[in-house]
Amino acid sequence: MIKTKQHPKRQATRKALIFISLLLFPITMNYLSPYVVIDGAFQGIINGSFVVFGLFFISALFVGRLWCGWLCPAAGLGEACFMISEKPARGGRFNWIKWGIWIPWIGIIIYGALSAGGYTSINLLYQTESGVSVDEPARYIIYYIVVGAVFVLSITAGKRAFCHYGCWMAPFMILGRKVRNALKTPALHLQADTDACIHCKKCSQVCPMSLDVHEMVQSENMENSECILCGSCVDTCPQDVIHYAFDRNL
Ligand code: SF4
Ligand code: SF4
Ligand code: SF4
Repeated sequence: MIKTKQHPKRQATRKALIFISLLLFPITMNYLSPYVVIDGAFQGIINGSFVVFGLFFISALFVGRLWCGWLCPAAGLGEACFMISEKPARGGRFNWIKWGIWIPWIGIIIYGALSAGGYTSINLLYQTESGVSVDEPARYIIYYIVVGAVFVLSITAGKRAFCHYGCWMAPFMILGRKVRNALKTPALHLQADTDACIHCKKCSQVCPMSLDVHEMVQSENMENSECILCGSCVDTCPQDVIHYAFDRNL
């Protein structure tokens, strides 16, 4: 078992990574696009977004939602919005909203692929021939719509609200994680030494996904489908109660 300790610079590194990813979003947008993958399905083309979404599922088998904590451009914007509002997201049953978006979207993709007679070619640069997603002024409209949705939700509906309610990418990782949990294969997860907790609740206060981390520690269940393995709780706990671990446990 690999068990890590607190690392003072880890959160600064994480925030730098998601902010750089946000700056690169005009380049990467089409590789994370719900529309491009639909368009590709109707043409029978496996494109960049298709591959990236597949990688989200596969990576979640080993590292859960690490992408969400450490690399996603929307994470950079969502956490930058903490400067304006740190209202917790309500989460709970509202987290199901994203499935109400994801399931019909997947249905359209399947319908499109069937209409095209299946996937017959691969073009990773489909609709991104230059390699840059926003390569002409008109494409900034889509860029600003996505950025605007993440921004407005973040400052009105709580911390990283887009991640809770609107994201079409998170379900791939949640499903991958559930498969891993069912198979109990080795993966990155959180672990807590419950007896060492002094109930200060700093872990819950710093969680960017508004999770009740203190309650997770007390219930001895650190697995939560909304946990993005950002490590904020790991690096904040004054008693070093919470750790990263890589093993077969939940
Ligand atoms: S939930 Fe979606 S928007 Fe949020 S960090 Fe994960 S992939 Fe990005
Ligand atoms: S920060 Fe650590 S000590 Fe404080 S409530 Fe959370 S787990 Fe317990
Ligand atoms: S529980 Fe900890 S690792 Fe998970 S999202 Fe919250 S702060 Fe990050």
